[in-house]
Amino acid sequence: MSNQVKTIVVVGAGTMGSGIALTAAQAGIGAVLVDINQEQLDKARAYHTKTLARAVEKQKLTADAAAAAGKKLCYVTTIAETKNADWVVEAASENPEVKKKLFRTFAEVFAPNVVLASNTSSISITDIATATGARASHVIGMHFFNPVPLMKLVEVIRGLATSDETVARTMDLARAMGKTPVSANDRAGFVSNRVLMPLINEAFYAWMEGVAKPEDIDQIMLLGCNFPMGPLRLADFIGLDVCHDIMMVLYRELGNAKFFPCPMLRQLVTAGRLGDKSGRGVFEYPAKG
Ligand code: NAD
Repeated sequence: MSNQVKTIVVVGAGTMGSGIALTAAQAGIGAVLVDINQEQLDKARAYHTKTLARAVEKQKLTADAAAAAGKKLCYVTTIAETKNADWVVEAASENPEVKKKLFRTFAEVFAPNVVLASNTSSISITDIATATGARASHVIGMHFFNPVPLMKLVEVIRGLATSDETVARTMDLARAMGKTPVSANDRAGFVSNRVLMPLINEAFYAWMEGVAKPEDIDQIMLLGCNFPMGPLRLADFIGLDVCHDIMMVLYRELGNAKFFPCPMLRQLVTAGRLGDKSGRGVFEYPAKG
């Protein structure tokens, strides 16, 4: 059976969904981006146009290739508008109830052989799959990294019922998108966020307790530990709400107080300081033109 994926539905047009759709389109795969929020779709479209144009300017892409990728992208507000998809990647908010509701719909709408992948950072794939009933064998974690067009890794997470065939097809698709898939087991946060998020959370504690100023915390980790980006700058880039939600999943699932989000992180999220996407988080960012 040919495993060539022709059209991917990407649900959620935020930071990750917009990057996943662009990466698919540049690999020659049709990408239908779905979001309940039209503003997010408009932002994603503007990001795609600008990124492709910049790649042509920098001679990283020919004008023809950019135009071909642009034609592979489309933007809709309901799942009902997506037709003939052969793959789904869910990249909506990091909330188990939101994801389970979406996967219930996917199982109703998409053909039986369509793989239903989640880009979740921390939520159990086994749990998400329960929403799909008999389709659990086709549910898998396909965890891309930010910014998706640049980051090579896809962490592939197999739930309890995920079939060998679904795993093999996911590995193939990740490679077709120019990524390197690596497997991890279905435990909260998998490998990447089990290790990264407590480190980011600890950087917030160091700031809150006055160990150093935020810029100095980042500088120390950059110069002393050879990090490519300081943990607080990275938190802004990921989104402080996303970091908070991931810590809550780790805390609830692993039952250890060390995973509880730092009060400083909670406070910034409450104030709407979400990082790059809101213009201010730990640091301030000029409006994107
Ligand atoms: P985001 O807040 O930027 O975007 C989420 C989008 O989902 C929003 O546009 C929202 O309108 C949309 N949405 C919410 N409910 C929806 C629904 N029912 N139907 C359609 N769209 C819906 O979040 P993000 O940073 O892109 O994260 C998305 C997912 O990817 C999360 O599960 C997150 O944990 C994961 N993730 C994030 C990062 C990161 O660095 N930000 C990295 C890897 C994985």
